[in-house]
Amino acid sequence: MKIRKGDTVQVLSGNDKGKTGEVLEVMPKQEKIVVKGVNIRKKHVKPRKQGDEGGIISVECGIHSSKVNVLCPKCNKPVRIGYKMEKDSKVRVCKKCGTVIK
Ligand SMILES: [Zn+2]
Repeated sequence: MKIRKGDTVQVLSGNDKGKTGEVLEVMPKQEKIVVKGVNIRKKHVKPRKQGDEGGIISVECGIHSSKVNVLCPKCNKPVRIGYKMEKDSKVRVCKKCGTVIK
């Protein structure tokens, strides 16, 4: 997966198209990610103990990683990610401007 936790991404399709947010969670097996403020579902919560109020909370649901692109901090728009070797490690770079994306 080219997307990592903590990345800022932009949604390319679906209901949240155009939204940007921070990646909160990456699920490589399902190729899904959870992005802050994206794909929010309302969830009903039952009161767990007496005096507790149940209610509705908002939770972010995962979206497929192919639906987002990483935002390049320099281009300030969603870009394709490439790789290059820096010293002994592979780093991600913006395919457009070559900026290393940490
Ligand atoms: Zn760039």
